Amino acid sequence: MQVIILGSGSPLPDPLRAGPSTLIRTAAGDLLFDCGRAVLMRAAAVASGAGAFRALFLTHMHSDHITDLNDIITMRWAMSLVPNPLSVIGPIGTAALMKATEAMLEPDIGYRLAHHDDLQWRPTTNVTEASGGIVFEDGIVRVSAALTDHSPVRPTLGFRVDEGGRSVVIAGDTVPCAGLDELCAGADVLVHTTVRRDLIEQFALPRLMDILDYHSSVADVARTAARSGVRSLVLTHLVPAPALGTEKEWIDQAQAHFDGEVVVASDLLTLEVTG
Ligand SMILES: [Zn+2]
Repeated sequence: MQVIILGSGSPLPDPLRAGPSTLIRTAAGDLLFDCGRAVLMRAAAVASGAGAFRALFLTHMHSDHITDLNDIITMRWAMSLVPNPLSVIGPIGTAALMKATEAMLEPDIGYRLAHHDDLQWRPTTNVTEASGGIVFEDGIVRVSAALTDHSPVRPTLGFRVDEGGRSVVIAGDTVPCAGLDELCAGADVLVHTTVRRDLIEQFALPRLMDILDYHSSVADVARTAARSGVRSLVLTHLVPAPALGTEKEWIDQAQAHFDGEVVVASDLLTLEVTG
């Protein structure tokens, strides 16, 4: 199993960091978690793409995590030679989101159906709304979900991918919570969105200060990893994006609370999850 960080950025546009998105390459195919800005550009760099995603998992519907949902729907449909429904698994509200996105795409769907004689079907999605439990199973690959705490954004999910004794958790945006601890128990890798509390408090801008109460700081993330016996921690969705050369500050802050490996994500960072 491979973990590929497609986008390590946040809502703030950054020339080096695409929006939040993580690809888990498994025996059951490419599983995509969230689909932030430029997700398909980054997927193209690792020979994946809209038509190749086995399933799309959404942690929540904050705009930065779903910016390019419409691009995935359109490319999967318009570039396919046969109907190829997209499986989408997310929290309650995902079905309404898919319906609204498809409505937004209606003019484009009409243009393409009218123009391409061999394109005779509309884009289709199979949506599963979940609040926990096993949400995907194929052979040795299993994905489970649990409710997390990103209040006042509700509901939100974290996910855990298990394959042949190896495991990866995608936390999404959350503060430390029981649901996430449950997913993380004994996991090999935890991919967690992270904010630098110390830097944000220095800026002291009200709009930025607001993000502190529903995201995990570096220390929060590290304590979650330590409490659950996680082996490797990947910090992603970095706010603010680290200036070049300052990644070690993030690692040092995490290692004050966690003994395992700590990695600061960059786009296309790839980790092999082995025994
Ligand atoms: Zn969020």
